[in-house]
Amino acid sequence: MHAEIIAIGDELVTGQRLDTNSRWLSAELTILGIPVTFHTTAADTLEAGVEAFRNAIRRADIVIATGGLGPTADDLTRDVLAAVAGVPLVLSPTAVSAIEARFARRGAPCPESNRRQALFPAGSREIENPNGTAPGIDMDLSVDGHRSRVIALPGVPAELKPMWAATVAPALAASRPEQATILQRSIKCFGAGESAIEAMLPDLVRRGRDPLVGITAHEATITLRIAARGRDGAECHEKIADTEKIIRECLGHLVYGVEDEEIEDAALAAVAAAGLSVATCEIGTRGLVAGLLAAAEARQGGGFRGGIVVPVTEGATTAAVLAERCREEFAAAISVGVGPVREAADGRDIIDVALASESGIESFEHLVAGGPSLAAIRAAKATVDLVRRHVTAHDRKGGKVVQ
Ligand code: AMP
Ligand code: MG
Repeated sequence: MHAEIIAIGDELVTGQRLDTNSRWLSAELTILGIPVTFHTTAADTLEAGVEAFRNAIRRADIVIATGGLGPTADDLTRDVLAAVAGVPLVLSPTAVSAIEARFARRGAPCPESNRRQALFPAGSREIENPNGTAPGIDMDLSVDGHRSRVIALPGVPAELKPMWAATVAPALAASRPEQATILQRSIKCFGAGESAIEAMLPDLVRRGRDPLVGITAHEATITLRIAARGRDGAECHEKIADTEKIIRECLGHLVYGVEDEEIEDAALAAVAAAGLSVATCEIGTRGLVAGLLAAAEARQGGGFRGGIVVPVTEGATTAAVLAERCREEFAAAISVGVGPVREAADGRDIIDVALASESGIESFEHLVAGGPSLAAIRAAKATVDLVRRHVTAHDRKGGKVVQ
């Protein structure tokens, strides 16, 4: 059983508004164990709507659509569905009364245009909308001999979500086949590129594997998403645990956490677990390292003592001097200093990072890569990761720092 999603609206195809409904619906369908194979976004025209629905009905067992159910002339989803089905639109007396009652409660007359929202393609079922005037439409449609259940919901997220929870999700859950639980787990990695990480994993990121492992990168953080399919949660958990074990064995220290955990959360948790504290002094990363650690401190507590941001004009200082300076200033067990961006002998841009602790100063060179907007955040995250590695290596070696 496969699903597709159709988002309808000129505001979406013109780029004025982000289609967040498709993202939300896909996540919900995945929880129900129904894989989603296509997202289509269509303009508010009859032709675009008909083509989008015909394609989806031909391919998928379930089609979920959002948008185009409003009262105005550009809301065409009901007309589109009637055209695809080859049936007329008929007025639903119950829907008319519900819409009129809604306006009456507000003491307002019901505009004629809103009565349009009580029109349904003949043979379709209504989906109640407790938070708005537009009811949803649920109908079975066939295109080229392929039959599909089509569910059209309003575009307003605050109306769509309660309708999904109250009516659509229970109906779909009742009709899904066995082997229909899908669970996901994200393993978070830092310190190597996407392709390097893929190369370290033996045949894991292969289509058709069960569980499936997907790999994505965001600002140098790599996420490995394991998706397992099974009869129930227990079977999925077991499959995920086996794959997670392989990933952890292959990647070792590159794995820093799971799910929504960020590298700064892992670093600060390691600092706190070791009973240590950390402070920062930055030039090249313009306060980003302090910002990341301060955010992690706010989320979960930890040992962040504070940070100093030094303007680039003071660039003559070295990373080691910066590290020493803030270690004293904040009386922190560990401190990191980030120097200015400098050009190395081979022409590449480098940022020097120094980590000061009771065992002395360690120096690192960070290669600036990824364009101006990405370079600083990458360098900041790499610096945060140095703290994590320093502390966890410290832990593993019983008090000795391994370089
Ligand atoms: P409609 O049901 O087409 O009248 O949509 C009503 C409003 O819901 C639009 O003006 C948007 O603000 C919002 N909306 C519609 N479709 C989406 C979508 N796919 N994602 C997020 N918001 C949407
Ligand atoms: Mg619209």
